[in-house]
Amino acid sequence: MPSAPALSPGVHLVDAHCHLDEGRFTGDRDAAVARAVAAGVTRMITIGASDALQANDDAIRLATTHAGVFATVGVHPHAATMVSPAVMDDLGRLAGHPRVVGIGETGLDYYYDNSPRPVQQDAFRQFISLARRVHLPLVIHLRDAYADAAAIMRAERAAEIGGVIHCFSSDRADARVFLDLGFDLSFSGIVTFKNADELRAVAAMVPADRFMVETDAPFLTPVPHRGKRNEPAYVIFTAAAVAAARRQSLDEVAARTRTNTERRFHLPRE
Ligand SMILES: [Zn+2]
Ligand SMILES: [Zn+2]
Repeated sequence: MPSAPALSPGVHLVDAHCHLDEGRFTGDRDAAVARAVAAGVTRMITIGASDALQANDDAIRLATTHAGVFATVGVHPHAATMVSPAVMDDLGRLAGHPRVVGIGETGLDYYYDNSPRPVQQDAFRQFISLARRVHLPLVIHLRDAYADAAAIMRAERAAEIGGVIHCFSSDRADARVFLDLGFDLSFSGIVTFKNADELRAVAAMVPADRFMVETDAPFLTPVPHRGKRNEPAYVIFTAAAVAAARRQSLDEVAARTRTNTERRFHLPRE
């Protein structure tokens, strides 16, 4: 295996999207955060929206106990049937927590269709409204649903709120649509996969101030660790693949994505 890419001293990366609350981190959670920080990944945004509402409390707790961890709150499109007025009230209250920096992940997943599509669409609209009300950026999850999502985002004027399409994995035409809608693109470990030439073409064309990198850990582990559990420290491999696609250095992409993520999520100065 070639030696792992490393950041120069003083250069830091932000993992824009991970799920530290997931059971696969049990027993290793604090160590995973420590390994990330030691590798220069000093900040990470842990996503509160897993399949249970409790995940939002877990995410906030992690963000309060680790200096480099921030949280979002929401309900994953897989679990959209769970959304009710009471749930939205609860999430609105949690969104006021000082360590909560975004709303999501919300969006549409037509690949798994774990919740009926009209229910996903309705929940997505409600989360766009919530983000508008609490003045927080949106973290959007899309799978096989780019056209419907763009239509909803236009109708709901989501551009006025802004945010990120997390784990962006479509083509250059879709990239242009969502950039024009005012949303940044976040690249995951998929950009390191052998068959991801089109995604690397997206990485090469995205404007310097409009992209981020993420792990989506414990999922989507980048090459060369594919098959193992993902963790925030591995965002360096994703950043290195994006840097190669853009013909830039890893340090440049790290600094750039850090600035972009900190600005979009209004993270406090380190
Ligand atoms: Zn997602
Ligand atoms: Zn996620």
